[in-house]
Amino acid sequence: MTAVEKREYYAQYKGKGRYVPPDTVETRIRDEYEIDPKQNEGAKFQFHDVKRRKADRQKMHGTDCECCRDYYEAVGPLPKYNQGPKWRDSSDEEDDRTTDTALREHQNKVSRHRETWKRNPTPPGYWEIGFPSTQKAEEQNAIADEMNKERARQLKQEVERKDSRWRKKK
Ligand SMILES: [Zn+2]
Repeated sequence: MTAVEKREYYAQYKGKGRYVPPDTVETRIRDEYEIDPKQNEGAKFQFHDVKRRKADRQKMHGTDCECCRDYYEAVGPLPKYNQGPKWRDSSDEEDDRTTDTALREHQNKVSRHRETWKRNPTPPGYWEIGFPSTQKAEEQNAIADEMNKERARQLKQEVERKDSRWRKKK
């Protein structure tokens, strides 16, 4: 259910006390799937601990920080052995999605910033102070819906994998 649909749905309950809790309206992706403790050192929740071994760190997700983000942006995909990076310039018209996955792959290979679980992206408009205009709020809600869909898509993809840390709830 998108934000707009949700608002319309809730509108009929307005003025009649509390709104219906969202889980009676829709099932969330987390209602369907759960973390498999066997793949997560026995824990049913996401957690981070210090891993020092190279082999362990290799398995973690590579990410970036404020300092090296621009570097990855500029270099793009991992340059081939013995070849310089193909610097991106404005004339390049690759589609964003492929560059984005290539960028992630690059980070996974070389980044020294590693995390066990991917951090969730910041909700759209989170850092903007003040109330958004109606148009702006709609825009942000649409982006948030998109992000949720993307997250669900990724989770479903991961469940298919053999070493998945997620499993379907029984
Ligand atoms: Zn960095």
